[in-house]
Amino acid sequence: MSLEQYKDVWAYCVREGDSLTRPSLEILAAARKVADKIGQKAVAVILGHGLDRVVENAIAHGADAVVYADEPWLEKYQCLPYTRVLCEMAEKMKPYAFLFVADELGRDLSPRVAYRLNTGLATDNIDLAVEDYYFGPTNTTYRNILAQIRPDFATRVAKIYTPRHRPQMASIRPGNFEPLRRDPSRRGELIRFRPTPVEEDFKVKILEEAIQRKSQIDLEGADIIISLGMGILRDGEGNPRNPREAFTLVSEILELIRRNYGLKGEIGATRALIYSELKELEGLITSERQVGQTGRTVAPQIYIAVGISGAVQHKVGMIKSKKIVAINSDRDAPIFELAHYAIKDDLYKVLPRLRSLLAEG
Ligand code: FAD
Repeated sequence: MSLEQYKDVWAYCVREGDSLTRPSLEILAAARKVADKIGQKAVAVILGHGLDRVVENAIAHGADAVVYADEPWLEKYQCLPYTRVLCEMAEKMKPYAFLFVADELGRDLSPRVAYRLNTGLATDNIDLAVEDYYFGPTNTTYRNILAQIRPDFATRVAKIYTPRHRPQMASIRPGNFEPLRRDPSRRGELIRFRPTPVEEDFKVKILEEAIQRKSQIDLEGADIIISLGMGILRDGEGNPRNPREAFTLVSEILELIRRNYGLKGEIGATRALIYSELKELEGLITSERQVGQTGRTVAPQIYIAVGISGAVQHKVGMIKSKKIVAINSDRDAPIFELAHYAIKDDLYKVLPRLRSLLAEG
């Protein structure tokens, strides 16, 4: 089987009511971007039951085609039948690339599908590109390969290629692509699969369902986020400070901003601060506030980084913020490279001043 036979960019989409979840719309936009670069189709792949309106909405949101299975036994997500059906679809239709959302469901499903299709999987991408890839040992250039872009485990952004296997599979973190605007006049092809259930698929049974309590900390819905980093542990002279002081200061600042400007604020944090498990911040700075590669991806109107160095793993979670303000006492801190407004000073001087200015109105 030659690699050229593999065509089109698939996005595995999850329904929400009559449409798709926001992260699914985002990966459909990612599929559109790649498909346009290689002159092929963006395809939404959907499993479930009662999908008539859902498939129409997928076309309206940018899919050229929808490959789907609409069966009562596929109504609820179950990893075994979903994996089998997706693999059957991919084996038959041979996509060039297959994208998933890097969320709980995508993290369960995508490695199973990749393993069974005998291909690779690059997880937690923040962007995708199409490039030629040169493989030195065999002196071969592979044309139009998917470059899967994600932070590496150290300090850089890495590109991952799967030149010799298909489909090229990637999961994409929510918050990195903007969904395409709904256009009900778009037309597309609907390709319905009619898989048969297999007893083996139902070895795992759903015994009970419980609705998970939604976090009270709504970083994604905030207009302004003030994030705290390890810098809050010492003042500009290097004297130890109670980190609770910085937390109280930013809480008061956010309350004044809410009162003065009607903006909804939240407190974020770096992983380093959260992992420090400081007793002064117990119950206040928890993993729900983590911004970054292994935390949340946010894009508020204003992001204020307080005592944060700007490591790549933090940066990828906040770089899409509309305006970035950085307060850091080190003029060489990498965070200043992304900041629209740079305040090079001791945060324990800047925050009280900001609070007074806001209190004056
Ligand atoms: P530091 O790097 O220690 O920076 C503290 C900053 O405060 C310094 O720049 C210093 O100049 C400044 N400062 C000190 N005192 C003051 C003062 N008085 N006033 C003003 N400025 C001051 N990190 C994340 O945030 N999110 C993630 O999701 C994440 N995921 C990761 C995943 C992996 C696989 C790995 C390996 C790492 C991950 N990290 C993540 C950790 C990341 O690499 C950094 O270690 C972390 O972001 C650094 O946090 P920080 O900026 O708070 O601390």
